[in-house]
Amino acid sequence: MSNVKTRFAPSPTGRMHVGNLRTALYAYLIAKHDDGTFMLRIEDTDQERFQEGALDIIYRTLKETGLVHDEGPDKDGGCGPYVQSERNAAGLYLKYAKQLVEQGDAYYCFCDAERLSQCKRNVGGKEISIYDKHCLGLSKEEVEANLAAGKPYVIRFNMPTEGTTTFHDEIYGDITVNNEELEDLILIKSDGYPTYNFANVIDDHLMGVTHVVRGNEYLSSSPKYNRIYEAFGWEVPVYVHCPLITNEEHQKLSKRCGHSSYEDLIDQGFLKDAIVNFVALLGWSPEGNREIYSLEELVKIFDYHHISKSPAVFDMTKLRWMNGEY
Ligand code: GLU
Ligand code: ZN
Repeated sequence: MSNVKTRFAPSPTGRMHVGNLRTALYAYLIAKHDDGTFMLRIEDTDQERFQEGALDIIYRTLKETGLVHDEGPDKDGGCGPYVQSERNAAGLYLKYAKQLVEQGDAYYCFCDAERLSQCKRNVGGKEISIYDKHCLGLSKEEVEANLAAGKPYVIRFNMPTEGTTTFHDEIYGDITVNNEELEDLILIKSDGYPTYNFANVIDDHLMGVTHVVRGNEYLSSSPKYNRIYEAFGWEVPVYVHCPLITNEEHQKLSKRCGHSSYEDLIDQGFLKDAIVNFVALLGWSPEGNREIYSLEELVKIFDYHHISKSPAVFDMTKLRWMNGEY
């Protein structure tokens, strides 16, 4: 077994959209191609978005498509350390946030919605809405008094405001942002749960993830991750952001549009092998012009360096063809 470790980290918020299935598949292929470990982690720290039944869909889809995880929870229990709400209940994320507070890399913020709505910063001649670090100036005594009085708070990361941050993605290359555009990211929310971003960094590190595979909607927040890794002195994993999936009219394939989840496709009569084959080619192309592959064959030839950054078109005709319809 190699040390390559990938994870599929879904939030149980509904059906298994083809974009999620593709993320799971690529993560699986990257791990298996290198004889590594594929892990499942349930990211359920956003309690408002949680949907009953969504976990079952995740387990069922992975099982049916053959994307069997080596580590992580399953339907028959054994959840252990892979469900974020359980990890949070054990105080894990707060512990790491407090470590950052002690180091001076994070701070308590007690600002209310009204104050926050007025925060602005001038960036390159343009006013942008961004938190103004007001609470970074509170003394230790003020913070303690607020906490003792039970004032609601969040914990924020203290981002630098000068210079630049460069983030490397295997597909999109180097992305450099101006630090004055980086908002002080919330690590712990006022409900005591970590934000998705923070829990993600902590868990990817603690679980030894070497390659982070996910949709490109996370690309813009990724430079901030580097800063958190740096504050902890941790090594940044390899990032593989996958391209947008569009419909044939080149519009973003919406999660709400009726036929773009794995279950919808099954309901429409598509075979699981055809779906997996089709999803594999949504943004990745093998060398040569062969297009029909089994999962085992994909494991052999998959190379994430050939993932494209241009949007992938969800082409129904091609799916029908892969399904053996003509
Ligand atoms: N929980 C996130 C989602 O479901 C995962 C993003 C990631 O893989 O980092 O979209
Ligand atoms: Zn504040």
